[in-house]
Amino acid sequence: MATNNYKNALKNPVFKTVSAAASALGVECYVIGGFVRDFLLERGDAKDIDIVAIGSGIDLAKKVSALLPGKPNVSVFKNYGTAMLKSGGVELEFVGARKESYSEDSRNPVVENGTLQDDQNRRDFTINALAISLNDANYGDLLDPFNGIEDLDSKTIKTPLGPDITYSDDPLRMLRAIRFATQLNFKIDAASIDSITRNADRIKIISKERVVDELHKILAAPVPSVGFALLHKTGLLPLLLPELTALQGVDEKEGQKHKDNFWHTLEVVDNIAKTTDNLWLRWAALLHDIGKAPTKRFDKKVGWTFHAHEFVGSKMVFKLFKRLKMPLNDKMKFVQKMVFMSSRPIVLASDVTDSAVRRLIFDAGEYVEDLMTLCEADITTKNPKKFKKYHNNFQLVREKIVEVEERDSVRNFQPPVSGEEIMSTFGLKPSREIGLIKDAIKEAILEGEIANEYEAAKAFMLSKGEALGLKVAK
Ligand code: ATP
Repeated sequence: MATNNYKNALKNPVFKTVSAAASALGVECYVIGGFVRDFLLERGDAKDIDIVAIGSGIDLAKKVSALLPGKPNVSVFKNYGTAMLKSGGVELEFVGARKESYSEDSRNPVVENGTLQDDQNRRDFTINALAISLNDANYGDLLDPFNGIEDLDSKTIKTPLGPDITYSDDPLRMLRAIRFATQLNFKIDAASIDSITRNADRIKIISKERVVDELHKILAAPVPSVGFALLHKTGLLPLLLPELTALQGVDEKEGQKHKDNFWHTLEVVDNIAKTTDNLWLRWAALLHDIGKAPTKRFDKKVGWTFHAHEFVGSKMVFKLFKRLKMPLNDKMKFVQKMVFMSSRPIVLASDVTDSAVRRLIFDAGEYVEDLMTLCEADITTKNPKKFKKYHNNFQLVREKIVEVEERDSVRNFQPPVSGEEIMSTFGLKPSREIGLIKDAIKEAILEGEIANEYEAAKAFMLSKGEALGLKVAK
């Protein structure tokens, strides 16, 4: 994996320009962080490149721009002492090497100028503290004071300093550790796990937006359960998503058990991650059973029940999004809809009638395939016969959806007879009758009594109007 020729990492000609700019200013500079890590992991060339200058990052950025063809615009963030420019498809971020000191109640440190070593000390993980020199004297040399290379080889997330310092200085790093472990399929070293567990409570000083950003990245990873299991293990999960923690555990009464809905949920999330990159569908998988904790009851006759958990769960989605300051927009509504409808295809699978399928398409609308994807991911039975049977059933539902939709096109249902036409036919002003007739037409279509077309709907309207005692206007 790791090569000795780190100049290979610097193939992009922009690095030579940065080097020349630094020489001209008489400052040292290094490429550091994610770019170096991802190069060594052969994850492909990262598009974000962090450059640390032993001096002013802003001055260096300006000099680099002056030397580049077209003199790209430099965005300066004075408050952070950073500057950014774009060149040849990459984004270069420049920062002066820093030494940081933190206070109890904030993740924003007091910052002073520092050496490269100071800057590497303040990095979150050894694998993120690797730097490659851009200086003439040692161009391409790797500076790895914390054996980051070793940790890359052994796939370990470890902090450069004592973990209690790193995590308590900036508790966001706890989530970053778990996120990197999930994205890269790395282990978090035992001292870090202990420290995160000890410091979990400090996550409350981190803004919700930052937290959600990390949760998104965990969910977007190939095997998201790695991250959620770590959040659970370290005690972070109840502080962030208590709705999930509440699903954990198995109760037994009168010899009857229900499944552990937390671990089941994680399996569902991993399943869906294999079939879709849609982040919001993955959220739906994560939250599809949250209504089960508050609705759980034991009934002597039928055993464990979770009556109306889909409805309760969809309401909880709103509260959860609100608490985490997530967008209360169409994405949230989509997640709610998926949670609310999450059992519908299951009920259907045992008896696939045309009218039930039409109703499913009508209710799920454009999201009917997403709903099927969620339901298929929900199959976590370990019994191979049942597994095959359930998948086959859903395959039948999918085929039926195509067939019914081709024939009846109810996916984006538009009433074939408009309210205006009903009014003018019977000489009505806006009134309750119009709603009744429109509803009756829709029901007749969904039940398959009439086809989803104008002539049939018009005839139905006339007979329905007559039944209501209405007269056709002259
Ligand atoms: P990705 O782009 O996948 O998130 P990255 O490592 O490039 O990975 P960034 O958030 O862009 O992540 O951070 C760039 C570098 O800055 C990191 O590699 C790390 O060295 C440092 N860094 C970022 N956030 C922190 C933090 N909270 N504490 C300490 N160092 C950090």
